[in-house]
Amino acid sequence: MRVTAIIAAAGAGRRLGAGRPKQLLDIGGRTMLEHSLAAFVGHPRVSDVIVVLPDVVAIPGVRVVAGGARRQDSVANGFDAVPADVDVVLIHDAARPFVTAELIGRTIDAAAAHGAAIAALQSRDTVKRVSTNGVITDTIPRDQIYLAQTPQGFRRDVLAKAIGMGRSGVEATDEAMLAERAGFPVHVVDGDPGNMKITTEEDLEAARARTRTAGKPARTGRAGTGYDLHRLVDGRSLVIGGVTVSSDRGALGHSDADVVCHAATDAILGAVGLGDIGLHFPDTDPRWKGADSLALLEQAAGMVARAGYEVGNLDVTVVLERPKIRDMIEEMRARVARALDVDVSRVSIKGKTNEGVDAIGRGEAIAAHAVALVRSRS
Ligand code: MG
Repeated sequence: MRVTAIIAAAGAGRRLGAGRPKQLLDIGGRTMLEHSLAAFVGHPRVSDVIVVLPDVVAIPGVRVVAGGARRQDSVANGFDAVPADVDVVLIHDAARPFVTAELIGRTIDAAAAHGAAIAALQSRDTVKRVSTNGVITDTIPRDQIYLAQTPQGFRRDVLAKAIGMGRSGVEATDEAMLAERAGFPVHVVDGDPGNMKITTEEDLEAARARTRTAGKPARTGRAGTGYDLHRLVDGRSLVIGGVTVSSDRGALGHSDADVVCHAATDAILGAVGLGDIGLHFPDTDPRWKGADSLALLEQAAGMVARAGYEVGNLDVTVVLERPKIRDMIEEMRARVARALDVDVSRVSIKGKTNEGVDAIGRGEAIAAHAVALVRSRS
């Protein structure tokens, strides 16, 4: 199925009174027209895009056609440029710059299935018909009221007849109305409340505010976890968080077997998807024999920084039956924070026993759990 989109951008947009056509006003660094065009040019199911402008100027990747006196004349001019083998034609107002790919897709499907379809939103408000002297004459059931949006989609033959109606003198505010007049049932597809039409100064401000939030990449937070365990044996020193703790037994390992640094390293690497400590500092590599694990943590922090992230915070729980580490925790935090190149307030280390249960409880091992949150730097 070949689909062409006609973007109606020939209006003078005088209601916005900005001294230039509204479709050329800036919204978050791009014109309203560019936003609308991008949605269709980038859509996988749209083959060609025709834009109808007040004056013909070259725009890469799209066909530009001069507008007419009224909107329907402009769209008719655009239709004349639609290739002969196109099955479905979409018409979209450039003044709706936030149209989504999903809405475009829904409109294509409905137009292909039914011949004519438009995006529309069911009214949330009760609608009253009011006489010229300000008195309600009728309340229209809300479930029968839909507010028309664009895109509007038509099979080529249906749109040809609708436009023929327009050329024969029928006035219409949109092509769906011409199709109705030509006797075609026009189906409604669920519109999108975000697919706003920019008409007033307030609309323009709302649109700009929206791109200020949406256009800025969010400072994405990513979490990572780490876990480490080492056996406790005689004749080794016990290094925890870069601090040598006085103990009759120490942690067995290829490096200094610092469970806090190892769990922290895995947590920050995991947060940015950079693997784990074993990948970067394998215990089969003689370079890391007896290594200072704070230095490994510092190297891992450098990898995280080069990936564009900084450590928001790190929280570590050390599980150890004895000795008590409470008095050394401030020193551990300071050393770990220095390795991470962050303020000490971002690092938490807590000690816990295993209540005599299991290997850790029997004093045979030390373990640590870590959670890190990293944030993109820009
Ligand atoms: Mg380890």
